[in-house]
This record gives sequence, C-alpha cells and structure tokens, in this order.
Amino acid sequence: MSSLYIHIPFCLSKCPYCSFVSYPGLDGLHQRYAAALLREAAELARNTTTLPLTTLFLGGGTPTLLAGPTLAAIVAGCIDLFGRAEQAEISIEANPQTVDPAKLNLLRQGGINRLSIGVQSFNDQELQVLGRPHSAADAAEAVRLGRAAGFANISLDLMYGLPGQDHQSWRRSLEQALALAPDHLSLYELTVEQGTPLHRHLTQGLLALPEEDELAAMDEITATLCQQAGLVRYEISNYARPGYECRHNINYWQNGPYLALGAGAVGCLNDRRQQKISDPQRYCELIEAGQSTVQDEECLEREASFRETVIMGLRLLCGVSRAQLQRRYGLALEDCYGITLTRLIDQGLLEMSPSHLRLTARGLVFANQVMAELV
Ligand code: SF4
Repeated sequence: MSSLYIHIPFCLSKCPYCSFVSYPGLDGLHQRYAAALLREAAELARNTTTLPLTTLFLGGGTPTLLAGPTLAAIVAGCIDLFGRAEQAEISIEANPQTVDPAKLNLLRQGGINRLSIGVQSFNDQELQVLGRPHSAADAAEAVRLGRAAGFANISLDLMYGLPGQDHQSWRRSLEQALALAPDHLSLYELTVEQGTPLHRHLTQGLLALPEEDELAAMDEITATLCQQAGLVRYEISNYARPGYECRHNINYWQNGPYLALGAGAVGCLNDRRQQKISDPQRYCELIEAGQSTVQDEECLEREASFRETVIMGLRLLCGVSRAQLQRRYGLALEDCYGITLTRLIDQGLLEMSPSHLRLTARGLVFANQVMAELV
C-alpha cells in the first residue's frame, strides 16, 4: 500500500463551522502553489521507496477550485514521479459550483476515478446556516455532471446534527442523496470547533443544535435508509456499495503509512508524523527557496503507536486484526489494556474473536467513550 495525500487549501468562501486549513480569496496563488506542489513531490519521490501509488487523494479546501488543466498537471506530475499501481484509487474532493463538464472531463481523462462531492445537506435553509455557497439543486447537478463525465465511483458528504435540523429534515436530505444513487456516503455529525463563527452563534443562543433524542432518531433513519439502498456501513461514519469502500481512508484507519504534500498536510512514514506549514503563501516561499516546509514532527513510541492503531482500527466495522497488531508491534491487546479490555467486553461494548477486536452495535453508539478508555 502506498498512499499520497495532496492538500489544496483554497475555498470559494470560509464556512462558519470550518477549522480546516482552507483560505478564500487566494486565486492569484493557484498556479504558484501547483508549481510548488510538484517541486515538493519531486523531492519526496527522490527520498521515498514506497512506490508506486495505490491511492492518491486530492483533498481540501476545495481542490476543484483550481482550473482543470492545473489539477490534471498535478495528477500527471505525481504519477510520473511516483508511479501508479494497477487499479489505483485516485480521488478528488469537489464542491458544487466549482465543477463543470469541461473540468470534470479533464479530471476523468487525467486518471481521477473517484469523485467525492461535499453536499452537506439537501435543504437550502440548512445550507445557508452552514454558509455553503451552493444550493441543493447545484449539488444534484454536480452528481449528474460527474456521471456524465464518466465517474463510476461517486461519494457524497452529508452532515447531520445541524442547527435547527430535525430528524424529518435529515430523512429528506438522506432520501435525496440516495435518489442520486451514490456509490459511497460519508455521514458526519457536525462538530462545532471552538473559535469558529458557528461556535459563537451557538454560545450566544442565536442557533441551537438538535437534542439527543433527535440525534438518535437520525441515526436510526440513517441505518434503515442506507441498508435499504444497499449501502453497507463499513466505518463509523462511512457507507458504501460493496467494493466501493474508500481505500485511501481505510489506510488511515488502519494507521498505515502515507505521504503528504501541500500546506497544512500531514504525512506519516515509519511512525514519524510530519505536518507541513499551513500558510500557502509561506509554503510556496519555502519550497521556492529550497527549504523544508515541515512545521511539526512527532515520532511515535511503540506503545503510543499501538494504541493509535487500535483506536483508529475500531472505527472500522470489521475492527482491528489481532494478528496484524502482533506482527507490527510484538504486543497483544491483553498486554496493553489488561482489565480495561475485559471490562469493556463484559459491558457489551467490545467483542473479541480469535482474529479481531471490534465495537459491538452498542459500542458503536458509545464509540467516543470506548475510545477514550483505550487512548
Ligand atoms: S468548503 Fe470545506 S474546507 Fe472549504 S471552508 Fe467550507 S468546510 Fe472548510
């Protein structure tokens, strides 16, 4: 497995809940940034032996804010430098309003074979609260254009637990998403990060999040509708038609190695995690001066890495492989967690088979609490 993540930190506007590395209004920097990415890619390829790429993921930000030829050049450049495995998964995140037939055709011809569209809601009022610059109709049109351009693997991102949302509104959004026959769905509960405008509005009482019973009803609706549509839950927040699970993200959840390029991007190789500088302008300057863009570096100790692998792996419905843990770390779950593990199993939150440890159905509901005990 050899994975490369490329961060494109540009957006049309800044959504009020967003804490990602993303900046509006930097259109003048796009070309320079793309050139810097390719320069960094060449350096990375020279120092890397894990080739060719099995997954490549352009995330953001809004990658599709870049011009089609620029994106195609980034992908072609990386494939030239790193190589591309047969059946490689090459994904791009897209937002409605930043795609058109010409751009999508170019991306498809350039070898991108998975389109992940940030829809978030099919309710225009909710989209407004989220500060999204697109409408529900724009999102549906983006899916139609993606199919017309030949994308056979389309994922939609939706969020639930939005201010003012009730379970009926969630049902309607999910039904509209499913009516578009996506191959994959990412369904995340809104997390409101401190310091964001949405957080301020909530603390000032201008907006309110749904109550626990509404959230529970939304979870039930999700389970029922996804099952009826033939989308299988394979990760806490992700559903796919069989065979369409996101391989790039599965590698993250298995705590596998991955390379990264771009401002704010995080890469991890041999348990050494590096984060690049977030400011895209500074990122370009450093690359052009031939200097390192690494801002933070962390070397994970064996047990810390083991625990991370367990916690990340439990996000997958299949759980973590006990044999793989033993091979990778020479440690067994019992050695590391002792009676905590026994207790969580006795409480019906975890189940351990001869091959795997995984969350039970009840454990999935209380996943955050279970994981907090295993950190
Ligand atoms: S489109 Fe995504 S990355 Fe960009 S500001 Fe909105 S939430 Fe953040």
